[in-house]
Amino acid sequence: MPHSYLSHLYCPKTHEHYDAGQIQQLSAVGSPLLVAYDLDALKGDWRPADLVGREASLWRYHELLPVLDPNNVVSLGEGFTPLLRTPRIGRELGVDDLWLKDEGIIPTGSFKARGAAVGVSRAKELGVRALAMPTNGNAGAAWSLYAARAGIEATVVMPEDAPLITRNETAISGAHLYLVNGLISDAGKQVAQAVAEGGLYDASTLKEPYRIEGKKTMGLELAEQFGWRLPEVILYPTGGGVGLIGIHKAFKELRELGWIPADQPLPRLVAVQASGCAPIVRAWEARAAASEFWADSQTVAFGINVPKALGDFLVLEALYESEGYAIAVDDAELLAEQRKVAELEGAFVCPEGAALYAAARKLREGGWIRPGERVVILNTGAGIKYPDTVEVDVPLLQPGDRLPR
Ligand SMILES: *Cc1c(COP(=O)(O)O)cnc(C)c1O
Repeated sequence: MPHSYLSHLYCPKTHEHYDAGQIQQLSAVGSPLLVAYDLDALKGDWRPADLVGREASLWRYHELLPVLDPNNVVSLGEGFTPLLRTPRIGRELGVDDLWLKDEGIIPTGSFKARGAAVGVSRAKELGVRALAMPTNGNAGAAWSLYAARAGIEATVVMPEDAPLITRNETAISGAHLYLVNGLISDAGKQVAQAVAEGGLYDASTLKEPYRIEGKKTMGLELAEQFGWRLPEVILYPTGGGVGLIGIHKAFKELRELGWIPADQPLPRLVAVQASGCAPIVRAWEARAAASEFWADSQTVAFGINVPKALGDFLVLEALYESEGYAIAVDDAELLAEQRKVAELEGAFVCPEGAALYAAARKLREGGWIRPGERVVILNTGAGIKYPDTVEVDVPLLQPGDRLPR
């Protein structure tokens, strides 16, 4: 049996095929490329029982991942993150069957590690020596560290006000790091120019085909961890929307493999954005096929500050196909939920993850989430990566003072 059932790449706009054996970036019409597998062959060769005893990382699904030779896998032990019941915050929100998939427990502290592990591994397999990318922080940190492990040179450009810890993670990996006094879109233009001059692999979000495959594994894990019975609703903090596209792709692949029933509806996916940067929400409300650039975007949830996503049409397609929803929440709301989740469940989620609780509250109040439905919160990173979003006011004692009671 082959290690991977990778077949080819294709353009979701024109359906034209591309050779997966060569380095590819965007399609001829400027669309992200998607990865296809030989699911017919895989269907005969692979059963859920084959997963028993495999390593607890995302590589347990290697048949459905694009790395052909296991020697090219670059891993820091990513994936198979905990799926936790959260009954106390659930009761508070009126969602009785509420679960937390916690991506804070992953190398580099954010789920960008999934995309980086698979993206960097495949880049290594294709002979890439140097990559470049713009980032709001977490992706740059993850890709630099995985690139270091792979022996690939990384060049990263991030906004000056990206979270300091991600700057440090990127710098310590030995990457060439530049700060820009501007937005991720400005960083993107600088990277595009450097790539055009030659010699660099463009690892920008969705400009290489394999990051989606890494993030897809969240969908595979959810399916396996729930015993191949999918939840009704999954909330996802949406910036570039890579994970949302990936999770939906995972479920469709599992359905084709017959691992989940063909007649059951797929989970309704919810794209959650910050009200200071909500291009997907605006497009979804208008039932549009693509989004418009969101000017002067701003939010404390840095990972979802993406004014225009290259894969917006794929995100919207996944929302329409799954009969999902798109909703924006205020920074003040998400910060209040972040504290509540820590108090009630002991989980210090990142601001992006906290936004999902604010969204779940609204969707339950509005009746879109129905009583008894199983709902998953996908916390995309560790709260400890954003020390400055928590305001604390602590009494200072002098030695010998008594504790107030
Ligand atoms: C990047 C990021 C997101 C958004 O992910 P996309 O798949 O690009 O939408 C959400 N949360 C955190 C913590 C991130 O770093």
